[in-house]
Amino acid sequence: MNSSSKKLLMIPGPIEFEPAVLRSTGAPTPSHVAPDFINCFADCLEMMKKVWLCPSGQPFIIAGTGTLAMEMAGANLTEPGDNALVISTGYFGERFAELLKRFGAKVTILSAPPGEVVPTGEIESALKKGNYKLMTFTHVDTSTGVRVDPKTIGELGKAHDVLTVLDGVCSVGGEELRQEEWGIDVALTASQKAIGVPPGLALMVVSQKAVNAWKNRKTPVGSYYCDWNNWLPVMEAYSNKKPSYFGTPPVNLIMGLDTSLKQILKEGVENRFARHKKTGEAFRAAMKALNLKAIPKDSFHAANTMSAPYFPENIKAEDFMSSMAASDVTVAPGLLPKLKGSYFRVGHMGAVSKADIISTVAAIEAALKECNHKFEPGTGLIAVTETLD
Ligand code: PMP
Repeated sequence: MNSSSKKLLMIPGPIEFEPAVLRSTGAPTPSHVAPDFINCFADCLEMMKKVWLCPSGQPFIIAGTGTLAMEMAGANLTEPGDNALVISTGYFGERFAELLKRFGAKVTILSAPPGEVVPTGEIESALKKGNYKLMTFTHVDTSTGVRVDPKTIGELGKAHDVLTVLDGVCSVGGEELRQEEWGIDVALTASQKAIGVPPGLALMVVSQKAVNAWKNRKTPVGSYYCDWNNWLPVMEAYSNKKPSYFGTPPVNLIMGLDTSLKQILKEGVENRFARHKKTGEAFRAAMKALNLKAIPKDSFHAANTMSAPYFPENIKAEDFMSSMAASDVTVAPGLLPKLKGSYFRVGHMGAVSKADIISTVAAIEAALKECNHKFEPGTGLIAVTETLD
């Protein structure tokens, strides 16, 4: 059968975007200091505080990817010789550890086996032993689909007076996050996932405690582009509806962000958390019905924004992935080097609809059938539709 050009992008970022967001990014580009654009930037900064649930935080909107957001947190909050604790649940935890070393931090990494989280007691005893300035953790590690509990880690950070940095690239705008209430100092993300804007924006909200820690630095920030000395005045100026410049903002993406944040707030953050939870449950129920095991060891630690199912033992990654590609539903291969060929990843966040989820489960069933996997055809679809109702 010939394929139409319409495909369904179900990878854990970039995701399918709302048409209204894409229209906003395609509008004629204004000057970055035009009054309308200044208002749009100011609105985005205000709305971020509402989406992150961090009313007294300082938002940043910067041209770059999620890694740049990680780098900005690391560059501004660590000085050579500072101790940093990295809680790793996969590939992106390891990335944070490598990144912090570049800024001279002495990094201790606590890594969980694939599918597991680092036990709270282990984090606590590390915090008691080491004199840490900073602790990073990945809310949802996109390589494993493992979700940690930011509330508990935020509380530990507060109790031990350690700055907490949440990598929320695969969570913010989808998973429950209450930054201020949970005492998280930096919650960072990128535009292309649950925030729902094409790739290119590094976004974060920073607590006043973290801003003060940065102000009290003894040494200059080791990255010129990331230095908050360059960016904080720009964010403050836009918030006060004044023109400002350090590096040209990606105007069209910020216009898309304005539309997307308005949509998120119109849906309501609580409703959005609940919708993602329901979608995650439905997708997991479908995979279970098809006899596919998930990387996360238990459902409490399974992400709601994405899933990472193992292939059945008798199925080769290449065969499954090529059947999926022929179905016009795009899913992602594994990412964690240790397990790479043994699993695949599906994003189900942001604008994802019931129809998208159902089509994806149907395409997975068809691909499994083509690969001669033994299962009762239709059971995945029944499980997903029953849970979504
Ligand atoms: N952290 C996590 C949890 C991610 O999922 C990603 C991207 N997949 C990143 C960091 C890096 O983001 P980017 O690719 O936008 O640099």
